[in-house]
Amino acid sequence: MDYDVIICFETHVELKTETKLFCDCLVKYDASPNRNICPVCTGQPGALPVLNKKAVEYSIRAGLALNCTINRHSRFARKNYFYPDLPKGYQISQYEMPFCENGCLEITGDDGQPYSVGIKRIHLEEDAGKLVHSSDSFEESEYSLVDYNRSSVPLLEIVADHERNPLRSIQEARSYLEKIRQILKYIEISDCMLEKGQFRCDVNISIRQKGSREFGNRAEIKNMASFRFMMDALEYEIKRQSEILESGGQIDQETRLFDEQKKITLPMRSKEDAPDYRYFPDPDLVDVKIDQDFVTDIERSMPELPDQKQNRLMADYDIREEDALILTRDREVSDYFAACASLCKDTKKLSHWIIKELFKLLNQSSLLIEKCPVSPQHFSRLVNLISKEEITETIGRTVLEEMFKTGANPDDIIAEKGLKPIQDPDILERVLDEVMAENPDVVDQIKVGETKPIDFLIGQIMRKTRGKANPKKARELIENKLV
Ligand SMILES: [Zn+2]
Repeated sequence: MDYDVIICFETHVELKTETKLFCDCLVKYDASPNRNICPVCTGQPGALPVLNKKAVEYSIRAGLALNCTINRHSRFARKNYFYPDLPKGYQISQYEMPFCENGCLEITGDDGQPYSVGIKRIHLEEDAGKLVHSSDSFEESEYSLVDYNRSSVPLLEIVADHERNPLRSIQEARSYLEKIRQILKYIEISDCMLEKGQFRCDVNISIRQKGSREFGNRAEIKNMASFRFMMDALEYEIKRQSEILESGGQIDQETRLFDEQKKITLPMRSKEDAPDYRYFPDPDLVDVKIDQDFVTDIERSMPELPDQKQNRLMADYDIREEDALILTRDREVSDYFAACASLCKDTKKLSHWIIKELFKLLNQSSLLIEKCPVSPQHFSRLVNLISKEEITETIGRTVLEEMFKTGANPDDIIAEKGLKPIQDPDILERVLDEVMAENPDVVDQIKVGETKPIDFLIGQIMRKTRGKANPKKARELIENKLV
């Protein structure tokens, strides 16, 4: 049987503000446990929260980037529940009056067409602390320690819409997550590092038999922090739910956990609803009024978003769509390209050399482009040398490898390693004579009008000169002599 699928994410993103959401404690990921804490973020009696304006600004930035309405009047609420990493016994979140609502995010749908996924709301809340169990397995742990460094770090929750253009497949789910992460990094509100828990998701999934009107109950899978696991979990859930429907059963509305080893989801608890949390307005915090000037200032300071940047690169630098897509995937890569492009005429060659050659070296040494040892000045100089045919592509690759190792500039490397191209026609001619003497058969073939063996001779010349000959000049020379 065929099924329609609806997938809906609640994405939690830790904002990279300097300090926490309601106190002056630093947001630092490498601090020793319980170093960055105070009476406010550990919920001591009488301690009062004060809202971090930067976190509000970042929330609005996200709202603008995801085409939301920015609410002029919003409010923080207490979400009441107990957990050892939540010392107050409630989490300060937003309930009926979030900062942003009714947005959308355009992805490429399964049919290859643009698809505008509905975003229901974006709200700001505080993160909880972290439990550290004494063993890898929770069941086998003898005790757990609690670290409150993360307690009250600003956490943005982006809730996708179940009803308005929801995600319809695993592929679309992946595109959605990648795009959200890309945009949040572009607007510099979070580093979104999955391995550090800065970007995590709860995902809801429900299915229905094709042609039937109603979707089944949703199952929610909690706290996924790897794209891989998310996709595996979704795949398993679709299979599990369709098997239940096929055997005439009903899907329970419940919260499930993903077992990363076995790649299956397991029931955790029946899904709680909003009333269970007894939300009420936080009496320690006043309502937030956002004036137009504040929003306008943020709007003005918004950086270019990935789609805009991709279109601009194509228009300004005449590069292919697929290259522009690769170059804008990370903001840092597009910045690197732009820095080089301002010094480089042949931007097509530039994009090709970044994507083909520089990425290869970065991958081999597992480096991000931010840590690239080759500066944009040096890289564009290298591409210029190749464009002007002052060096061949082969030499260019050797020079780039050396630049990558040492960070030196290409001119110095070429001079030092004796990689200067052979300009002197006499030297080139002497090499050609040697090559001809070694390959009399090939020479005869060229003389009777075959053209293919010319390439062979050029190859021999390039080999003998270790790539320092200019292949164009070599061809001219052969043709003058033999054709
Ligand atoms: Zn604090």
